[in-house]
Amino acid sequence: MRPLIAGNWKMHGSLSEAAALAGAIKAGLAEAGAAELLVCPPFPYVQPVIAALAGAAIAVGGQDCHAAAKGAHTGDVAAAMLRDIGATHVILGHSERRANHGETDAVVRAKAEAALAAGLTPVVCVGESEAQRLAGEAEPVVTGQLDGSLPEGFAAAGGVVAYEPVWAIGTGRTPTEAEIAAIHQAIRGKLLARFGAAGGGLRILYGGSMKPSNAAAILALANVDGGLVGGASLVAADFLAIAAGA
Ligand code: PEP
Repeated sequence: MRPLIAGNWKMHGSLSEAAALAGAIKAGLAEAGAAELLVCPPFPYVQPVIAALAGAAIAVGGQDCHAAAKGAHTGDVAAAMLRDIGATHVILGHSERRANHGETDAVVRAKAEAALAAGLTPVVCVGESEAQRLAGEAEPVVTGQLDGSLPEGFAAAGGVVAYEPVWAIGTGRTPTEAEIAAIHQAIRGKLLARFGAAGGGLRILYGGSMKPSNAAAILALANVDGGLVGGASLVAADFLAIAAGA
């Protein structure tokens, strides 16, 4: 399956920096190999980045959306609004949202349903804490999050799962390749059990301190169908080098 390399820009940059980063990725697209690329800027920069990437085969997404289609939700953004301005994807259930905004699996599932209804591809994040991994609970935690977070129409719409161990995000630490392979296999098993054959065609991204020096080895593992990249996605050359390794 064609790998997807997604950049999560989080709450970084300015308008000019976002446009410059998008422009540099566009200019270097030939270096990205066969991978499909997605960038997810902060909300105010989504449309300027879409404009900066015009004509390039690089998708743009949001980092969150509300579960409701519209309404009195000050400060929130509806999935249809993202779709309206040309976004195609939305990251949901990132561990920073689960931790900082109290997002439960049920909330993530409702947001994913809203994304599907609006025609966006949800990129649903799951991952265990360090304490959970040390307690040997990584797999049941992650498969439990999948049970609770993925809506019924997820597979039919080609939804994306991102496995991001919380303790690997922004820390420079990663699980071993064997640990990544094992949990991606468990995720694949869960997707097949839940969605049948369609679950075999869904992308499972790895995220957590992915960088040019470790990307190729991680991306070569079975059931690793791309990456969700935080810090390294803010440097065009690093983002493209990760994609080249896919
Ligand atoms: C992320 O937050 O999605 C992420 C993977 O971050 P980093 O690559 O910086 O660990």
